[in-house]
Amino acid sequence: MAHPERDEPGARGPSAPAKRTWVLAPALVWTAGLVLVGLVGLGDFITGPFMSFSVFYLVPVGFMAWFGGRAAGYAGSLASALAWFLAQAGDRIMFAHAAVPYWNALVELIFFLSLSTIACALKDALARESELARTDDLTRVANRRQFFELAEMEIRRAGRYGHPFSVAYIDLDKFKEVNDVRGHHEGDRLLRDVGQSIQASIRATDLLARMGGDEFAILMPEAGPEAAAKVYEKVRAGLGERVTSAFPEISVSVGLVTWLAPPASTDDLLRQADHLMYAVKDEGRNGVRHRVVGAPS
Ligand code: GH3
Ligand code: MG
Repeated sequence: MAHPERDEPGARGPSAPAKRTWVLAPALVWTAGLVLVGLVGLGDFITGPFMSFSVFYLVPVGFMAWFGGRAAGYAGSLASALAWFLAQAGDRIMFAHAAVPYWNALVELIFFLSLSTIACALKDALARESELARTDDLTRVANRRQFFELAEMEIRRAGRYGHPFSVAYIDLDKFKEVNDVRGHHEGDRLLRDVGQSIQASIRATDLLARMGGDEFAILMPEAGPEAAAKVYEKVRAGLGERVTSAFPEISVSVGLVTWLAPPASTDDLLRQADHLMYAVKDEGRNGVRHRVVGAPS
């Protein structure tokens, strides 16, 4: 059946599409597509040989290719060419040569197959574009835009179902020194290592995004105070293992916020997490502050 699909953020690692896309069950696509082909074929036969009808086959062929992929598109093309051929045969036209109707059917088939191929390529290109628009170029984790989209969804979901969720806002300490002392290239490598390390430490349902510069954020759906603290511990241990061995001068300041009642907006969410992270900076860096919002006093 048809249902809107949102890919789980963490499953993305670096590549989850964030937009809602309508996904139809394969059985529905194939059945509806082939029934449509049959109906168009019937219309083709009824309207007779002198009325051009083949343009209407593009509807089921395009539908099957777009929603069902290449195999479905090609099957729809084959079925359409066959339906077209049968409709012509039923009309009992006299051709100059016996091979003409077969040749015409082959031309129709090539036309439909081309349409299927173009439709699938277009869909793939759009999906790639959409993914790139939500991916950070350097680290290949999600970017700020995707964070905002999924955080907004999470705020709505948390408000509706009364579930908690958490966000960790992470800023590298004295990152500029890495750039200055080791060079920008090494700074880039560090950012990539941090991205990979955090990604490996979080759950499949969490989202890691690079918010800009040396700032990262982890969105943790359904994570209450204990779960968020556990995730943070894993992230810290992971960074210790994978990143500080190569960059011992690096530490992180983290603002961790758990909302038992959701914030008013994504701006409000970021403001609270960012504010907490800066409190850690003010206290001398290299630490975490965890705040639980909406707890009964
Ligand atoms: P603090 O401890 O207060 O966080 O200071 P910091 O040295 O870490 O610097 P800050 O967070 O204020 O600024 C981040 C720096 O990251 C600024 C910029 O020079 C550098 N930067 C931003 N984007 C990139 C990037 O893509 N690659 C590299 N190598 N450096 C970047
Ligand atoms: Mg910094």
